[in-house]
Amino acid sequence: MQNRAEDGLNCTIDERIVGKERERETLGENLRRHLERSISVGELAPGTRLDEKELAARYQVSRTPVREAFRLLAASGMVELRGRQGAIVREIGVNQLLEMFQVMAELEGLCARLAARRITTCQRQRLAEIHQHLVEIGEAPTPDPDLFYQVNLEFHELIYTASHNTFLEEQTHSLRNRVGAYRRQVTNLPQRIASTIEEHERVMQAIFQHDAEAAHNAMRGHLTLLGEDLIDFIAQFGR
Ligand SMILES: [Zn+2]
Repeated sequence: MQNRAEDGLNCTIDERIVGKERERETLGENLRRHLERSISVGELAPGTRLDEKELAARYQVSRTPVREAFRLLAASGMVELRGRQGAIVREIGVNQLLEMFQVMAELEGLCARLAARRITTCQRQRLAEIHQHLVEIGEAPTPDPDLFYQVNLEFHELIYTASHNTFLEEQTHSLRNRVGAYRRQVTNLPQRIASTIEEHERVMQAIFQHDAEAAHNAMRGHLTLLGEDLIDFIAQFGR
C-alpha cells in the first residue's frame, strides 16, 4: 500500500479516495454522509426542519434509511429528532461553538503533527497543489468564497488523511462537520482570505520539513480565533 502510494502513477487515485469503506456503507449511512455535508456547508441551515417523507421521495429511498440517517445524525449531535415529524438541524450556541473550535484546533494540530512525521510523497505533492489552487483563488480580483471554502476544506482534509491515524481522521472530520457551517463564516471574513493563505503556507512548510512541533503550533494557531477576528465572529453570530 505504501509502495503503491509512493509510485507516481497511482498517486492521485490512491490518495484521493477518502474511504474505501464507502462501498460497504448502508443506504442510511450514505444518506447521513450526504446530509452531514449539506449541513456542514450551510446548505441546510441550523433550525431547518428535515422531513422524513420528503427526503425519502427526493432520494428515492424508503423511509427506513432516512430514519437511520436521522438516528446517526442525532447520535453525532447534528440534528434533534422530532418524533414522527422528522428532525431539526441543531443550532449551536456561541459558547459551545467556541469550546468546539478550541477542541478542533487541538485535533487538527495533532493531525498536522502526525502528518509532519508520516506524510507520503504523493500527499506532499497533492498538498502543494491544493495550496497553489487556493493561492490562485485568493489572487482573483473578487475571490469566489464558496470555491475558497471548498478548497480550504480539501487542504485540511488531506492533512487529516496524512496523519495516517484513521480514528483521529474520523473524529476530526466529524467535529469539522458539526462546526463547518459556522467555521465557514470565519473563513469567509474578507480579511481572513490573505491570512488563511499565509497560515496554510506555514503549516505546509513545517510538514514538509518534518517539524512536528512547528506543524502542530501553526495549525492550532490557524484555527484559533483571536483578537479582532474573534470579535467579528461573535458580532456576526446569529444574524
Ligand atoms: Zn484553513
